[in-house]
Amino acid sequence: MPVFFITADQVQDDTVRIEGPLLHHLRNSLRCQVGEEIWLGDGARRRYRVQIVGINRRVLSGRVLERQRMPSSGSPALTIGQALLKGERMDWVIQKASELGAASLIPLVSRHVIARPRADRLVPQQQRWQRIALEAAQQAERWEVPVVHATCEATEFFAEQPIHTVSLILSERGDGHSLTSVALPRGPEGRVAIAVGPEGGWTEEERRSALQCGFKPVTLGTRILRAETAALAAVSILQSRLGELG
Ligand code: SAM
Repeated sequence: MPVFFITADQVQDDTVRIEGPLLHHLRNSLRCQVGEEIWLGDGARRRYRVQIVGINRRVLSGRVLERQRMPSSGSPALTIGQALLKGERMDWVIQKASELGAASLIPLVSRHVIARPRADRLVPQQQRWQRIALEAAQQAERWEVPVVHATCEATEFFAEQPIHTVSLILSERGDGHSLTSVALPRGPEGRVAIAVGPEGGWTEEERRSALQCGFKPVTLGTRILRAETAALAAVSILQSRLGELG
């Protein structure tokens, strides 16, 4: 069943108010009626079974019939640091990583990034990517919405390594552990980070900086993959190994 995301403040005691784009979707696209039941999620591991008690052009009012909490996840949270990619490729990585269960996504600026963001575009771009992540999480019927963080320098991301249990950098050339066998944490308190380079790859300095911060170089084999392909393959392998896929 589809679960539509709302924000926790839209639930007051046993009533729910929905306005804006979700109201439009429920009223005009899905033609929801009074008396029908819908499922809502607040993106923070809670779900509500709601009966519609009123719906018009301005607002949908609902009554909470049932509350559910996300079953406790037994897996580490996965963070993807993705160097900015041109055009829709970045949207695509955010969408696929969100469907596959990533907990957070951090767009990175590195030396070989082709599509450098203009300062005045950073916030609208982050908001747009957050919408893509929300829609992908809704489509995947996830309990949580991945957080798309503000774009930052790759070296800043590397320096944050200590907040993660294991930090990996996808390194297309040279040595590296296989992603299928590198040691990973177990249990929900673990946090795994992986950095994926831009179309032009990491510079030697960036790679060295990541290793000095405690990142481990990992390889996907000898084929040189497009960045978006590498991101999808890496997230799939990691999520499978962490017990979150298949
Ligand atoms: N311009 C680079 C070169 O020719 O060396 C290739 C960069 S590749 C297109 C883009 C990114 O995808 C890389 O920075 C890396 O993060 C990842 N990647 C691609 N193939 C990979 C592989 N076989 N192993 C690990 N990472 C890979």
